Amino acid sequence: MAAWGWRTAAVIAAARPGGSGPGRRPGPGSGPTSEPAPEPVPEPATPATAAVYVHWPYCRKRCSYCNFNKYVVPAVDEAALRSCLEREARTLLHLSRVQSVTSVFFGGGTPSLASPHTIAAVLEAIAGAAHLPAGAEVTLEANPSSASTPCLAGFKAAGVNRLSIGVQSLDDAELRLLGREHTAAEARRAVEVARRLFPGRTSIDLIFGLPGQSQDTWAQGLEAALGLCDDHISLYQLTLERGTALAAQVWGGALPTPPQDLLADMYQTARATLVAAGFRHYEVSNFARKGALSTHNLSYWRAEQYIGVGPGAHGRFVPWGEGGCSREARVQTLEPDAWMREVQSRGHGTRRRVVLSPLEQLEEVLALGLRTDEGITRERWGHFSPHLSLEAVFGVPGEAKNLQQQGWLVLDGR
Ligand code: SF4
Repeated sequence: MAAWGWRTAAVIAAARPGGSGPGRRPGPGSGPTSEPAPEPVPEPATPATAAVYVHWPYCRKRCSYCNFNKYVVPAVDEAALRSCLEREARTLLHLSRVQSVTSVFFGGGTPSLASPHTIAAVLEAIAGAAHLPAGAEVTLEANPSSASTPCLAGFKAAGVNRLSIGVQSLDDAELRLLGREHTAAEARRAVEVARRLFPGRTSIDLIFGLPGQSQDTWAQGLEAALGLCDDHISLYQLTLERGTALAAQVWGGALPTPPQDLLADMYQTARATLVAAGFRHYEVSNFARKGALSTHNLSYWRAEQYIGVGPGAHGRFVPWGEGGCSREARVQTLEPDAWMREVQSRGHGTRRRVVLSPLEQLEEVLALGLRTDEGITRERWGHFSPHLSLEAVFGVPGEAKNLQQQGWLVLDGR
């Protein structure tokens, strides 16, 4: 629903884990992989933890800018999907030997189209396979058009304690351009209901850089959103994605291309406005007030383990239960029906496993950690690079040293 992580210019932000780069070695089993072996397997030296991302792949309508892994179908077999999500969550938690789940994020697609019963069942499956602490952050992405009071109250009763609402804009003309299903009035109502049910734990997504959008209209829209939002805002610069209706209109000349300088100004204006309003700019695209940082998304940026459940979901974990002892990038089968068949026959729909080399892991630590205002701590670096310190890599003459001299990179005691 919202602009997502690794693929958009402004976001490795959102709770949609994904993206595997070139040049990686094939994992122990590229292509569909098999059920866990019953033989004795190595165990993690310390109790393993992970965040869990659950992908709901369906939407009611295609937004004009969207190239996420989502499907618009006449009817969804929710019972079958639910049972596969439960089973895959159990299988992957078993394979990873994860003992404690730090957070859960339901993304999509439009997970607010799922019934609260499905959300509760998946959470129960997770809690049955690993410890899910009572206070763990459980976020659900909601579209304003599927966020009525009974619906959101149902999600709360199911165990959701944080809501991320795909507002995108509070201007009806912009919402039409984006192909959104909702109006500005519906977005306002949804956020108001969410704030009553999830006080201090409601986030909104906004998109800027629409074709024809001016600095003034963006600034006014942001002010309107500020009056509405709770404690967390995610800002995404529109990315024109190949194959989308909006990109075709812009590239075909029917709509203007947003100038890069204007986009940069919009971002800087938003940053200044939000910081002045008391928000902490804790990640490139994310702003939080009163400490309401998304712990789930922080786990991606801190390069912690995460498990991706559902069609097209991505994960990063050590598959101890498959005899693995290295961190892998894993991707589940994209298409929901094919994914369900694989889960039904093998317990999970992992399509691709890639063992990440130490260098690739450090590249992820750097690329993700440097998106945050906390940066990369010595402890985190040491976890991935026990023998080569930050000073040994960045404190020596070379490109990184030049960046420090120019003030773009800071290497300090933390
Ligand atoms: S709601 Fe729109 S943006 Fe979100 S996944 Fe569905 S089609 Fe894409």
